[in-house]
Amino acid sequence: MSDPVQVPVVDAAELVPFGWSELIAGDFAPHHEGGAQPGRVVAVHRGGIVIRLAEGEVMASQAGRLPTAGRDEAARPAVGDWVAVDQPPGGDTVIRAVLPRRSALVRTTRASGRRSGTGAGGRQVLAANVDVAFVVDSFDGGPNIRRLERYLALAWSSEAQPVVVLNKMDLLAGEVAAAEAIQIVAAVAPGVAVLLTSAASGEGMAAIEAAIAAGRTAVVVGPSGVGKSTIVNQLLGEHRQATGRVRLGDGRGRHTTTVRQLFVTRGGGLVIDTPGIRSLELAGDESAIDLAFDDVAALAQGCRFADCRHQQEPGCALRAAVEAGTLPVARVANALKLVEEARRRAEEGVEAAREQRRRGRTLSRAVRQHRRLEERGPG
Ligand code: GDP
Ligand code: ZN
Repeated sequence: MSDPVQVPVVDAAELVPFGWSELIAGDFAPHHEGGAQPGRVVAVHRGGIVIRLAEGEVMASQAGRLPTAGRDEAARPAVGDWVAVDQPPGGDTVIRAVLPRRSALVRTTRASGRRSGTGAGGRQVLAANVDVAFVVDSFDGGPNIRRLERYLALAWSSEAQPVVVLNKMDLLAGEVAAAEAIQIVAAVAPGVAVLLTSAASGEGMAAIEAAIAAGRTAVVVGPSGVGKSTIVNQLLGEHRQATGRVRLGDGRGRHTTTVRQLFVTRGGGLVIDTPGIRSLELAGDESAIDLAFDDVAALAQGCRFADCRHQQEPGCALRAAVEAGTLPVARVANALKLVEEARRRAEEGVEAAREQRRRGRTLSRAVRQHRRLEERGPG
């Protein structure tokens, strides 16, 4: 048997637990020739960027970040990024380049006139190179399908693979209710895996671990109160305490302490957990598609025909952007997929919506009944 992960150009076997792969080695190759080292960003702080190199962790100062990034916030190194660094003897660690991102969880900041000046909203990368986005909802009062849809759209837009996690299954009344819940979710998330967990007791956590086995990187998103922190704590166990703080030489012999944001889980997966991701709340009045793909939507305004389907039409601004290399084709495909799904749902019409509401009521009734039984206690 040969080694499943071949590292042809650079010997970065120490980085395999951090997600290093042949693909990344390929992206890094040109920088290797220039004498740089590969590493993965494990934390971004005001004081610096913590990078895991093959030999250990180093800190690059914010000042040492890419000169090319300029004012484009999205081009700056984010947690999860693979980077090429230079370490001149006795000098500061410098990030020479951010390798191409396979995926990115992005927060679009609304135009806040005064600050941005341009009137355009900014795009801040909350996490890069994410393989799996766990979209969490819970059974206390839910699941809330509209809310779930918006987080799913966010996950699709990141290029990560969404996995729906319905937590607090201990509040559910039996298997029938669980099956119904899965059915309801499947209706809005065709083809997406649905996992039921009870993070408080650890039930169902094995399936979550399995989804990020072998160095896959995950984020956990969802509204507050559904159990995201509990899930992350379960995944990390004692690891967070053991590895959360790193002491780093900053190149001048001083040591600084910083909090890590990318963690290796007990099962060998990776989880990115930052305050920005945890508090990522989606407003209720925006459509899922506009919210997650506002860059695509803005571009589509430039299509020659108002009803452009972005296929073979002349003057299609999306196709032009893809051809110019400024818009990833996968991003357009995901946006169009969501548009198509929304259209299909609209066509399925009132009857289906009514059916869904009825099922939703059944579900919340089951939860309420279960609660009443619990309150009454045994006997
Ligand atoms: P977050 O805001 O999404 O990070 O949610 P937390 O992890 O802080 O959890 C919110 C509340 O739900 C806390 O009181 C948890 O103890 C509770 N909780 C988390 N998971 C479960 C679960 O599986 N079952 C029940 N009944 N409660 C849970
Ligand atoms: Zn078009």
